[in-house]
Amino acid sequence: MVVGEFTEETQVAVIGAGPGGYVAAFRAADLGLQTTLIDSADKPGGVCLREGCIPSKALLHVAHLMHTAAEAGDFGVQFDPPRVELDKLRVWKRSVVDRLCNGIKALATKRKVRLIQGLARFEDSRTLRVEGGDVAHVRFKHAIIATGSRAKRLPESIMPADCFMDSSQALDLPSIPKNLLVVGAGYIGLEIGQVYAALGSRVTVVEALPRIMPGADDDLVRPLAARLKKQFEAIHTGAKLVSARRTGETVEVSFATSKGETKKSNFDAVLVAVGREPLSRDLGLENTKVTVDARGFIQVNAARQTSDKRIYAIGDVAGEPMLAHKASHEGIVAAEAIAGRPSIFDARAIPAVAYTSPEVASCGLTEAQAAEQGRKIIVGKFPWGASGRAIAMGRPEGLTKIIAEQDSRRVLGVGIVGEHAGDLIAEAVLAIEMGATAEDLAMTIHPHPTTSETVMEAAESVLGTAIHSLRS
Ligand code: NAD
Repeated sequence: MVVGEFTEETQVAVIGAGPGGYVAAFRAADLGLQTTLIDSADKPGGVCLREGCIPSKALLHVAHLMHTAAEAGDFGVQFDPPRVELDKLRVWKRSVVDRLCNGIKALATKRKVRLIQGLARFEDSRTLRVEGGDVAHVRFKHAIIATGSRAKRLPESIMPADCFMDSSQALDLPSIPKNLLVVGAGYIGLEIGQVYAALGSRVTVVEALPRIMPGADDDLVRPLAARLKKQFEAIHTGAKLVSARRTGETVEVSFATSKGETKKSNFDAVLVAVGREPLSRDLGLENTKVTVDARGFIQVNAARQTSDKRIYAIGDVAGEPMLAHKASHEGIVAAEAIAGRPSIFDARAIPAVAYTSPEVASCGLTEAQAAEQGRKIIVGKFPWGASGRAIAMGRPEGLTKIIAEQDSRRVLGVGIVGEHAGDLIAEAVLAIEMGATAEDLAMTIHPHPTTSETVMEAAESVLGTAIHSLRS
């Protein structure tokens, strides 16, 4: 430490103010611990709030509005084609983000959580060096690392830096490209691809694996794939990116299709969304006893404590799935463990939602995972084509699917594809957490007419026959 540099003492130092870090800090403060929250960005909220989940949802809402208006012609209501005022759209998106960031700031102030803007790095197991902040060092009793993740890059030889944007840049809406190439048909690629398609871009997708949204249940992906086929210019699965080079205003991209043909096309913009990687480097972990695995994830126990007992890690940096709600839950666990409570992370199900249109939501086991585990299961499906509400919305393409244990009928997994599936999945998570059976769901009275009834009917289908559909 340099003499004269300002050092602050705190009970809990949290590094990273995303949905993992700020939740951990707030819980720690609520438990009476003096807490300092450090983030290099000028606003708290992390990638999720500033340049990920929240701005993408604001833009997906706009895309949804535009599609709904366009499709209203089928119901006898004609709207003129929309005109997009990009500047105004950006301002609105920013206002959504700012409002939430300011909310976090206000909550931090009320809780007396000290916010420091700066880049933190461990000097030892008790001390952080903070660059760029008004404090040079923070001495802590406990620390929680919540530094998140960053977008993975493709090798420079395949995708040079001047040829592409990542999801954060894409969500800044630099322009609306006439032709957009999306590399990677996962959550981010498809969500942002749909936003740009709604705004007028012709979207082409190149995905390395044989299908879009690898890992998700086939039955759930099918209705989404059918809609994307109409919205996107082309979707190349099982394709291999060969090279890209900037040619003035456009990027020339070569890729090999699954049939072995090589395609060369020019795009006005390229979005690379091929996954994310943990931000565990450059944290000075070598000055502590914290260990990381081969992929860079910090190793933690059930309480989210690292191998350095004063230091905890949560969220994307501490392992998959890289989801904001998992990070927040871990933040609460870590803060409680530091406060001496017997808290561990033992969630039975973590929901995952792609906020595409239709949304794809799931929790627990998929049918394929249950088969891999050799489980005896019964699958109940309820097609939304038999849901009054889905038909009334003009969106009957959805499906609700329940995987139950054969003997006990205990719910092992639920998948839903359809409008607002992400809002419906919470009931399924609760069912799995509570060890509910298909009968519990089937006997729970659901409001009519809502798409939540499809959960009840899929459960009825596990038990025999759903009222509004016959088992095939
Ligand atoms: P992802 O893992 O969901 O999808 C990446 C896709 O890129 C995969 O389909 C993969 O096969 C493909 N890919 C990889 N290398 C490729 C290559 N060289 N060429 C073509 N395709 C290639 O990752 P993502 O969409 O970038 O999202 C990153 C993380 O963020 C995920 O862990 C996800 O859980 C999280 N996330 C979640 C949400 C949500 O919950 N709605 C939204 C956005 C992101």
